[in-house]
Amino acid sequence: MDRRKGSGSRDANGGGLAEATASRLRFEDADEVGMEVEVEDCPAAAAEEEVIGNEKTSADYYFDSYSHFGIHEEMLKDVVRTRSYQNVITQNNFLFKDKIVLDVGAGTGILSLFCAKAGAKHVYAIECSQMADMAKEIVKTNGFSEVITVIKGKVEEIELPVPKVDVIISEWMGYFLLFENMLDTVLFARDKWLADDGVVLPDKASLHLTAIEDAEYKEDKIEFWNNVYGFDMSCIKKQAMMEPLVDTVDANQIVTNCQLLKTMDISKMSSGDASFTVPFKLVAERNDFIHALVAYFNVSFTKCHKLMGFSTGPRSKSTHWKQTVLYLEDVVTICEGETLSGTMTVANNKKNPRDIDITLKYSINGQRSKVSRTQNYKMR
Ligand code: SAH
Repeated sequence: MDRRKGSGSRDANGGGLAEATASRLRFEDADEVGMEVEVEDCPAAAAEEEVIGNEKTSADYYFDSYSHFGIHEEMLKDVVRTRSYQNVITQNNFLFKDKIVLDVGAGTGILSLFCAKAGAKHVYAIECSQMADMAKEIVKTNGFSEVITVIKGKVEEIELPVPKVDVIISEWMGYFLLFENMLDTVLFARDKWLADDGVVLPDKASLHLTAIEDAEYKEDKIEFWNNVYGFDMSCIKKQAMMEPLVDTVDANQIVTNCQLLKTMDISKMSSGDASFTVPFKLVAERNDFIHALVAYFNVSFTKCHKLMGFSTGPRSKSTHWKQTVLYLEDVVTICEGETLSGTMTVANNKKNPRDIDITLKYSINGQRSKVSRTQNYKMR
């Protein structure tokens, strides 16, 4: 299963995902392949039914991308991501020493291992995919069986042996920050188990927007459908336009300022705060053409001795999240100092809450472009 959003990348170093790498999805729609399967929220359960003997079938992987080591390899090798967590944990022992830690969605157990090494009293590592079995073995092999307890199951369904935890750590972020909707799982764990003076790591996440010149790639990904070996396939173009493209953007494509759209405080927010409408004003920093808006996110750990975090923006070292490109119907001819303004609405899809619906309203009343339009996108 390969659900990478961008096939290939503009940036040779940045994008380099292996062909076999799964995207960061936890499970996929059953109806997409016309199978009559009750889709379990937790991939592990669905996958188990499909296991024939000890052999995993492709259906297991289809339902359970996090059971395959490939996706964990991709995440572990994302050094911006993994080193940030490692630095947060190892450089802030005071947050972990003698504390009870809950690792929400432990995967291979990497964050639990960092926490155990930093002196945690006990770490509960919850993981619902088959990778939980590997995490158990990894914990044992590395001599942390006394400190780390791996619990295989869904956070929403498991029983924790302790009533409260001091720290919740999780790497829950999806493409466009909110894709996959794992944030809800973290909020659930926070409300159920976090002690009053406990901390959530990371505790801040923000979504940002900018605009780019992207003629060449838009031509390749969108206009391509106009003439495919001499045939008009432009009906697919409409679908391609609606699907945000996860890909790396080069910093020199940026035409406007970068605008903060939304900040989320993971320690306080409620699940509904992840759906919102926010205004934006993008001011051109040079004369150029705008083909797309680009969204990216930052996360921070404000409870550290010194503020720590990372950005997935086009000016930062690229991560496996890349950026999210939303192509515009219009090519906007913008002059330096002019403003492209509008609103962005982000909401979980009603039918499948792990999908995200994005509505973009934008307008410009410039010297060379006068445009006002609404576009809908769907991340799935
Ligand atoms: N913490 C690991 C893995 C992060 S990916 C690391 O940093 O490398 C997120 C993990 O959360 C996946 O392995 C996924 O299977 C797991 N997960 C997602 N939702 C979950 C849920 N509701 N209950 C338990 N595990 C979940």
